[in-house]
Amino acid sequence: MSAQILDGKALAAEIRGKIKPEVDALKSAGVWPGLATLLVGENPASQVYIRSKHKACQEVGIRSFNLTLSQSSTNAEVMRKVEDLNADPQVHGILVQLPLPLQIDSNAVLSLIHPDKDVDGFHPQNLGRLFSAKDARDIFSAAKPIPVPCTPQGVIALIHKTGVPIAGRNAVVVGRSVIVGKPVFSLLLAHHATVTIAHSQTPNLAAVCRDADLLVVAIGIANKITGNMVKPGAVVVDVGMNRLAAGGLCGDVDFETAKETAGWITPVPGGVGPMTIVMLLQNTLLLAKNSCVAA
Ligand code: NDP
Repeated sequence: MSAQILDGKALAAEIRGKIKPEVDALKSAGVWPGLATLLVGENPASQVYIRSKHKACQEVGIRSFNLTLSQSSTNAEVMRKVEDLNADPQVHGILVQLPLPLQIDSNAVLSLIHPDKDVDGFHPQNLGRLFSAKDARDIFSAAKPIPVPCTPQGVIALIHKTGVPIAGRNAVVVGRSVIVGKPVFSLLLAHHATVTIAHSQTPNLAAVCRDADLLVVAIGIANKITGNMVKPGAVVVDVGMNRLAAGGLCGDVDFETAKETAGWITPVPGGVGPMTIVMLLQNTLLLAKNSCVAA
């Protein structure tokens, strides 16, 4: 058996096509959705990510503001910049590019972003709302929907695209980071899956994974999950992005063996990566719409 490919690039393009007219409509109504990014330092990988985010904004007509501070900036300088952006009515979403230089208190900076402008969804208030949600309606259909962290939101959109229902399925998330694993866990739970979260201390990872109808892997170890760890027919979403010594990227799932067992599988690159960026656009649009809702 050979799995169907879950094409994140194609799905991201489809979603961008839906975002653009919504941005245009909001703009006509006098609200031009705006995203501000703040990059501290000159990390080359971060510079590449920032450029691709601004390019994506341009494609759908979102106004973007590119702010930079030097590597030697102080905590107070970074905090002041965030406060300025919180007060700027043209800015609906604020993204602070991680990682920040070591002298900066990342948690303090992320918590300072106003929850209504928290485009990455990492503010404790928004994570708390996500964690407290009884079901998906509490997240996506509330009077002011929650900005859900972008990569996890992209994972769920990819699973929806397969047509495989989430409710009642066994889902396994490998990795428990705040950025990926835990929000994916909360989202799957809100869609009524029975969810297990595995991590570096989980004994017999292979057996845990083999129980998964839906398997989401975010650990950062190249090709760690092999075909014999995948349940036949499972949906496999590989979040991992590992740089190969020879150049190029590979995932945390061994694509070649896993595709022989899985029913659906994301490639790396071209799976979760493009979805993360399009969800950033979707969250900016959401926050701009939320700004029109009375407090
Ligand atoms: P973290 O390093 O923050 O977390 C890794 C998680 O994997 C931890 O919970 C860790 O467990 C777990 N883990 C480590 N080793 C093992 C193991 N041998 N068996 C089981 N679990 C293990 O990583 P992130 O969540 O930030 O990122 C994960 C991957 O996803 C990376 O490759 C990253 O580049 C990629 N990524 C991709 C994005 C995209 O847009 N495509 C966006 C964000 C991340 P423990 O907690 O016990 O240490």
